[in-house]
Amino acid sequence: MALSEFGLIQRFFTQPLKNSANKLGIGDDCALMEIPEGYQLAVTTDTMVENVHFFKEANPYCLGHKLLAVNLSDLASMGAEPVAVTLALTLPSVNEQWLAKFSKGFLTLANKYQVDLIGGDTTQGALTLTVQALGLVPKNKAMTRAKAQIGDLIYVTGKIGDAGLGLKIKQGYSCEFPEQSLQQFNQPLPCIKEGLIIRECANACIDISDGIVADLGHILEKSNVGALIEFSKLPLSNEVQTYIKNTGDWQLPLIAGDDYQLCFTISPENAKQLTIDCQQIGIIDNHKNLRVLYQEKIITLKTQGYEHFS
Ligand code: ADP
Ligand code: MG
Repeated sequence: MALSEFGLIQRFFTQPLKNSANKLGIGDDCALMEIPEGYQLAVTTDTMVENVHFFKEANPYCLGHKLLAVNLSDLASMGAEPVAVTLALTLPSVNEQWLAKFSKGFLTLANKYQVDLIGGDTTQGALTLTVQALGLVPKNKAMTRAKAQIGDLIYVTGKIGDAGLGLKIKQGYSCEFPEQSLQQFNQPLPCIKEGLIIRECANACIDISDGIVADLGHILEKSNVGALIEFSKLPLSNEVQTYIKNTGDWQLPLIAGDDYQLCFTISPENAKQLTIDCQQIGIIDNHKNLRVLYQEKIITLKTQGYEHFS
């Protein structure tokens, strides 16, 4: 007999609470959380829909991981520490093998960051996965998109373009060492630790989900400033550099999404204190648009990212 809704939640998604801010988890009408004195609750939600955000045959372990990672990445970009998540699952049918792998990918990442799954909803329909993530940030410490200052240096953490290359590889591009790019595409890690450090010194921050051009574009728009990026400063893996050499597609690391690195702006003075793995790629200025210096030419880029309804 197929598992009931309750059996399914019990078997695949219920585990003891780990984070002391969570007082009541799965099993009642609501979960209960306690917000410590002097903190604010950071709240975000992201949905992944089959055939829009992932392929039909996507590995369920990776899907569980990525679904959680993209939500935790939003907390990271605000400088919040993740505490709890809820999970709304819409499934075409109960496939126990699929659920076992999906929940393992999801909960393995949750456990890594001491994040509790405290509730959710389970319904039948086209495969749709929604997470709400809740995090804590000291009052007035959260980073937003709106406070970039003219003269700020623009930084990114880690490397960019690997997830975009991973997608190209999935679509048939062949490359000598595909593992790193595929890993970045399938199982990105949210920059939680980096976010906590950056919030102490940066002016604005965003996570790179739609590509640096689109996401830095959001900072520029909200802060009412412009930016100049130097292509030669972008932190690119050997594989992405080889891809660009072979195809001429130099814009990949600028416009491909799914990297989930952080892009932040910081005063030159504060930048001297940075201790994390990051690279300065440009500067905030008063031009009201985004330009890239590429092979001694300045190119103005459209900052619009992927739009679901256009
Ligand atoms: P209600 O009818 O009150 O909405 P449900 O029957 O939907 O309750 O859910 C029962 C309990 O299981 C609730 O605590 C809910 O938060 C939790 N829950 C339901 N679906 C999920 C899920 N996919 N993941 C985690 N918890 C879930
Ligand atoms: Mg319900």
